[in-house]
Amino acid sequence: MSPRRPARARAAWLALAAWLALVPALASPPKQDGPRYIHVGRLLADPAGGQVLSRMTVVVEGGRVVDLREGYVGTPGQTIDLSDRFVLPGLIDSHVHLGHENGPDDKLLRTVRSAADLAINGVAFARLTLEAGFTTVADLGAENEAIFALRDGIAAGKLPGPRILAAGNVLSPHGGEGDLFGYRGDVTRALQRPNLCSGADDCRRLVRQQVQRGADLIKIVATGAVLSDADAGVDQQFTDAELQAIVDTAHALGRRVTAHAHGTAGVNAFLRASGDAIEHGTWLDQDSVALFKHNGAWLVPTLLAGDTVAGWAADPDSFLSPAAKAKAASVGPAMLEMARRAHAGGVPIAFGTDSGVSRHGDNAREFGLLVAAGLTPLEAVRTATVNAAAHLGLADEVGRLAPGMAADLIAVDGDPLQDVDVLRRVRFVMKAGVIHKDQ
Ligand SMILES: [Zn+2]
Repeated sequence: MSPRRPARARAAWLALAAWLALVPALASPPKQDGPRYIHVGRLLADPAGGQVLSRMTVVVEGGRVVDLREGYVGTPGQTIDLSDRFVLPGLIDSHVHLGHENGPDDKLLRTVRSAADLAINGVAFARLTLEAGFTTVADLGAENEAIFALRDGIAAGKLPGPRILAAGNVLSPHGGEGDLFGYRGDVTRALQRPNLCSGADDCRRLVRQQVQRGADLIKIVATGAVLSDADAGVDQQFTDAELQAIVDTAHALGRRVTAHAHGTAGVNAFLRASGDAIEHGTWLDQDSVALFKHNGAWLVPTLLAGDTVAGWAADPDSFLSPAAKAKAASVGPAMLEMARRAHAGGVPIAFGTDSGVSRHGDNAREFGLLVAAGLTPLEAVRTATVNAAAHLGLADEVGRLAPGMAADLIAVDGDPLQDVDVLRRVRFVMKAGVIHKDQ
């Protein structure tokens, strides 16, 4: 035996041991035993009440808030200093699409991207979203396999990202907004996803199968959409009987249903069928306002999507098709007016951006638009905390800071109740007790 071999073997063993020691750190976020004491300059623990407390300690252990104490307490070495910052619960965006961002090559990309590609996109976009302060999101439309894998990977601590409720495939009638447009017939058939139904019985089947595949909630398209190439307007697409079948089946399986809807008839038909929430709601009317309030349904106005597509429509070099461009030009400006009417009428509003239309990580731009629609900064913060939590069925988990709630919190410089745009510059992000950003 060469005298050099034991030394080489020892070096190899040392390298392997060092690598093995790294593996747990790579596989899951570092765990810290015992409580940690977060010293907070100003604290908005419960946006429902809106009280801002000064010089507070948030005690966190095992991923949860265990206590809120007056003054700065805690053991040295286990404290986190946010004494010069404003702290509030982690934000919630109830309408994102983490698998992609819209762009000029969408039609081509649909033919070349796999579900795995979309999941990898989602890894990057989930991180941007979390670092922007959004610790919980609802993904309202993505390939089933891609978004369910991303959701489960984040939940298992394999990669950083917000807690995700995922709808997976968006349910649509045949020939409706969620069908494919602009491809050759054989290409259309090859790209088709299992997301289409016609008739009440067929739609019941589709809801059951979507839940079977792993959907946390059901998303449907109740009307035409802005960014489809269908020159079919934005009015009701599912029949009343189909809407009722979808909502009843989802509710029987313990799932909420939310509907993409722009046109008045589609909005009201879905609300009459006891749907839980409307995404966009562009042409809702006084009947809609009454239905929202009567049913306790939520409006997710997605003003940032309206702002984004109106910008594209105004661009002479826009990549939008003529049909999409005409719709975008009218829908964008109408959305702000819609939110103003809905808010003034007392419709419950939950925060949602439709990010993926706008850039991921820009989610907090929605706050300024909500304020432009007449919400106070506190009301705007509520939409992304207590309201969105209630809308998504997570009111006992996220949206406020109290003993037993998830230790999801963010910190900003300045006072978001004076200037809501400070939420576009989040300095500190903790999700389930793990720090993901600390500037
Ligand atoms: Zn959307």
